[in-house]
Amino acid sequence: MFKLAKKIIDRASFLQAQVVLESNGGRGDGLAFPGAPRPFSAHLYEKLAQILQYKLIEVGLPAPIFLSGIGLNSTCPRCGASTQKNRLTREMFACIKCGYATEARFVGGYNLAKRPQQYAINRVPIYLQKNTDGSCFCFNKILEFSCVVPSDEEKSAILYQLSLMIRSQDDDWYDGKKYAMLCKLRSAENLQDAVRWVKVRKK
Ligand SMILES: [Zn+2]
Repeated sequence: MFKLAKKIIDRASFLQAQVVLESNGGRGDGLAFPGAPRPFSAHLYEKLAQILQYKLIEVGLPAPIFLSGIGLNSTCPRCGASTQKNRLTREMFACIKCGYATEARFVGGYNLAKRPQQYAINRVPIYLQKNTDGSCFCFNKILEFSCVVPSDEEKSAILYQLSLMIRSQDDDWYDGKKYAMLCKLRSAENLQDAVRWVKVRKK
C-alpha cells in the first residue's frame, strides 16, 4: 500500500499535479462484471486515501480531492454519453453514440481526471426563496445548509453563513455528493465564484 502511495506521489510531484480520488471508498459506479477481480476493496482504497492525505502535503502538493465515481466507467470520454451499454465487455469500451472505442481500463481514470474541470463549471446551487415579508430563505438540501437573510440582495451575508458552515462540517466521505460540494466550496479562492444563485418560489 505504501509502495503504491509512493508511486502516486512521485508521479504527482514530477507533474506537479493535483491527485483526484473517488469518494465513497472507490466503489465507483458499481459496474461489475462477473468474474472480474476487484483490485481494491473499499477499505484499502480508503487507507490509500488516508496515506495520500498527509504524504502529499508533506511533499508540498495539495491534498487529494474526492469526486463522485458515478458513471465513471460507462461515460464516453469523447462525447459524454453515459450508459452502461457503452461497456461492450469487461475489457472493451465502445460508445453507442459516437463510436469511440478504447480499452475499458483507461476510461475510468481518464474520466476521473477530467471531472474536476466539469466541477469547475458546475457551481454549487444555493436556492433563494423569498418570504412574504421580503426576507429570504436560502438553502441547499444536499449540503444541509440553510439560513434566513433580510433580503435576497444580501449575498455577502449568505456567503458568510455558508463559509461558517463549510468549516464546521466534519469530513464525511460516504455522502459523495455532499462531500464533493464541500470540497468545491472549501477549495474556492472566492466563495462567490463557486456558487450559483437559484431563485425558487415558495410552494
Ligand atoms: Zn461517445
